[in-house]
Amino acid sequence: MNKQEAIKRASNLRDLLKRYSYEYHVLDNPSVSDAIYDGLMNELKKIEAEYPEIITQDSPSQQVGNTILNTFENVTHTTPMISLNDVFSREDVEAWLKRMDKLIPGYRHDFFCDIKMDGLACALIYIDGVLQQAVTRGDGFVGEDVTANARTIVDVRSSLLTNKQSSLFLKGRTEIRGEIVMLKEDFQKLNQKQKALGKPAFANPRNLAAGTIRQLDPKLVAKRPLHFRAYDLLRDDPDEVLTNDFAYQTLRNLGVVVNQDATVFSSLNQVMDFIDKWENKREKLPFNTDGLVIKLNDRELYRKLGVVGKNPRAAVAYKYAPEEAATIVKDIVISLGRTGAATPVAVFDPVVVAGTTVQHASLHNADEIARKDIRVGDTVVIYKAGDIIPQVLKVILELRSKTSHPFSMEAELSRQYPELEFVRGEKEAIFRIKNATSGLLLKQALVHFASKGALDIDTLGEKNVAAVVDAGFVKDLADIFSLQKQQLLSIDRFAEISASNLITAIAEKKHPELRRFIFGIGIRHAGAQTAVDLAEHFKSIEALSHATLDDLLNIEGIGKVVAESILGWFATPDNESLLEKFSDLGVKPVFNSSASGPLTGKYFVITGSLQSMGRDQAAERIRSLGGIFQSSVGQETDYLVVAGSVGGSKLTKAKQYGTTQITEDQLLELLDNS
Ligand code: NAD
Repeated sequence: MNKQEAIKRASNLRDLLKRYSYEYHVLDNPSVSDAIYDGLMNELKKIEAEYPEIITQDSPSQQVGNTILNTFENVTHTTPMISLNDVFSREDVEAWLKRMDKLIPGYRHDFFCDIKMDGLACALIYIDGVLQQAVTRGDGFVGEDVTANARTIVDVRSSLLTNKQSSLFLKGRTEIRGEIVMLKEDFQKLNQKQKALGKPAFANPRNLAAGTIRQLDPKLVAKRPLHFRAYDLLRDDPDEVLTNDFAYQTLRNLGVVVNQDATVFSSLNQVMDFIDKWENKREKLPFNTDGLVIKLNDRELYRKLGVVGKNPRAAVAYKYAPEEAATIVKDIVISLGRTGAATPVAVFDPVVVAGTTVQHASLHNADEIARKDIRVGDTVVIYKAGDIIPQVLKVILELRSKTSHPFSMEAELSRQYPELEFVRGEKEAIFRIKNATSGLLLKQALVHFASKGALDIDTLGEKNVAAVVDAGFVKDLADIFSLQKQQLLSIDRFAEISASNLITAIAEKKHPELRRFIFGIGIRHAGAQTAVDLAEHFKSIEALSHATLDDLLNIEGIGKVVAESILGWFATPDNESLLEKFSDLGVKPVFNSSASGPLTGKYFVITGSLQSMGRDQAAERIRSLGGIFQSSVGQETDYLVVAGSVGGSKLTKAKQYGTTQITEDQLLELLDNS
């Protein structure tokens, strides 16, 4: 993303996040899930980290909570109630630790971990052990005085428990910060009541708790069961509370409820175990959580590390894999299934949803795209249907570019597959290749798969292919590897020897060269040279299958149409199962880096038409001597073979890079004498 694009995207994200934040914090009525809010906030933070000069003071990344309405008296916090930076993985936690280590090298790694309750923050101020004031977080600096309402909450003590060990905290000012939550069970009961009264259901416990605490009538508040769980203890002299562990122990002594599961750990591995432990277990807690809080236990270090923006350096919020996520549709490619059916597939900026990285999702058909009006460049919400299959839920219209245009299946089919004709049957949602039956397509695909440039399977020519497909023994490319001699013998064409020969010839190709395999599986627009480039770059079919659009476009000689076609192939469910089947049958493509020989490490490009042999043949000879054949001139190219009088970009580039130009005769000399 260049700076101009970054400024625009950041500005759109800020506007939208401000709206979401207002709906959430002020109206207690969010229109998107926290995961979507967090995801978009994370994107904004990344852009702002890349271009710090574009950060605005009013950016949601710099602000806590939201403006407060003047319904209650405003109270300025003595210490701001700040927010926490989100982390989503072990790598993020490690990076956080590294950042701290750099600032304060060599300190003891003691972490304090607790469940992050999904409620609203509230500060209780006690003077000489007696509750004086309860204040919401507000915008972090100024909150609302909700004392009367907070007093109705069972676990908000009007006076702290007298305790010898913690008697210090019964004198002077003690501030106890914690979360006001509504238990899941109470929330359900309240919603059942709403239903019985014919009233609309409340959205979630967090927003109901937040809305309740800001009710003007404390009697109404008392009717809605709320709870308070403390997570912080503040004194005017910070040295009176040296660790978070001590804070929790003191809170317990003073009769204040804290989570029993909060623990101190001395290593990152223990922290990760704690994270793993709570991944599913947190569902069983009586209140909702939105992750874990990880802080340094030592509060002096915590203070020393300070605050960046609205977040302390020494604490993070660990967020578990979200059930939905926002991402950008980079492209819509069309995949062709076994039967010739054309399926549009959205290609995304990779994003984690329900624990796995998602980078494409089927959009099913043209009608479905039109219904959701999904366009290239849109920011969309994705989720996993049945926890497995990624789907686009909706488009975030506020983030749509003004220059976007609706997706046209017909236009895309003729752009991506200019050589094919497609038809859409009456009352059918699907476009299919005209006149294609699955048998015909399979025969063509198999002939190509077995051809010289691909797996080079002796004796599996057109006629034998037709015979095994027509007999019903082969239903996809992988099936040839499970063919039995007995099956072949049941077909007229085969006798003892010819059947044995074919079975042996197929078995010999169980470990084909990767480039041959890639070429053989028949990805449209991916010819023999592209297959070589892909093999050299990805080195395994597995890695290729996870390639992103950008990965592919970064390879010399691969343009948009080819890249889209590759993505489309790997995004087709039929093809995913085909690759699995190959693997189950023991078919394992192997990557041999270009053979070594006299031309090892030398890069060749040909421009024009050779007289003595075809380009593929020349490429094959160069490779057999260890050379690398390329389709376009790059800085690394050693020789540009100029066949005949040609002009064009290859020559221009060769001049630019100072590449040696040779004639066809010189190439032949090189090949013959090497
Ligand atoms: P945060 O995620 O930055 O975390 C800080 C807060 O965590 C503290 O103020 C405290 O209230 C709470 N907390 C809970 N348990 C804690 C514990 N054990 N120890 C310490 N703190 C604990 O909070 P934030 O700044 O309120 O972040 C915004 C949150 O609100 C995010 O989760 C975001 O998804 C949500 N949000 C959602 C929308 C929406 O439209 N859905 C809009 C705005 C914000």
